[in-house]
Amino acid sequence: MRSTRFRGAVVAASFALSLAAAPAAFAWGQVGHRIVANLAQRQLDPKALAEVKRLLATENDTDLADIATWPDELRDNPDTKELGKATAKLHYVDFNDPTCVYSPPKCPDGQCVVEGIRKYVAILGDRSKSDTERREALSFVVHFIGDVHQPLHAGYRDDKGGNDFQVQFQGKGSNLHKVWDSGMLYTRNLQFQAYADLLAAQGAVTLPKPIPPLDNPYAQWAEESCKISKAPGFYPDKHEIDDAYVAVERPVAEERLREAGKRLADVLNKTLD
Ligand SMILES: [Zn+2]
Repeated sequence: MRSTRFRGAVVAASFALSLAAAPAAFAWGQVGHRIVANLAQRQLDPKALAEVKRLLATENDTDLADIATWPDELRDNPDTKELGKATAKLHYVDFNDPTCVYSPPKCPDGQCVVEGIRKYVAILGDRSKSDTERREALSFVVHFIGDVHQPLHAGYRDDKGGNDFQVQFQGKGSNLHKVWDSGMLYTRNLQFQAYADLLAAQGAVTLPKPIPPLDNPYAQWAEESCKISKAPGFYPDKHEIDDAYVAVERPVAEERLREAGKRLADVLNKTLD
């Protein structure tokens, strides 16, 4: 973890890198992850909020949004490069299957976002672990719960989460993954606090119903993302992201951010009580 002041430069560097390379592990971009964290923090109960604030204060941070993008920055820093490599596959799950049914073979050796969330929720809730470990776990939980709600982090096609699907967007070449990570959100022209205010003002989000046979909320969130990615029109026929696409799909992205924020709050309230 780094101080907030230092992080600015690193964030800028990693953002530039993500625009250039956009590997599948980069998700929601800076703004999306921070919106999810901000929305969640508003919905924490007093006990969970106190513990979150205590863990954040160990590195002079104050808000969940301050640590929401750290897992995407690990590989940019020599000190954390190995951790970044070891956790690279925990940002997504490849369904490679239009039925969007999650099952353990989709997650070999626990190397996917569904098991990543489970692993770090367990560490966060284990009070015998050090504050450092639990603080890192908190960052991973905030980040991965954001990731699993980005439809292309649990997509149905074999195309590196839409990274291989080229599109035209705002007069330039891009790819569908980038458009969903950040491009569509940036069309709002809002900083993350203002964006989160806007979404929070829409009131309580109605969460999708549980899928009983699954009995695994994290897998369900991945299945929901997979199904969104195969909805008609999600992959634009003409490989062009026009105003009509944004008009239809940006509300879908924003609904996922609201769901992620609420679910993250629920997980933290339960885990830190
Ligand atoms: Zn990620």
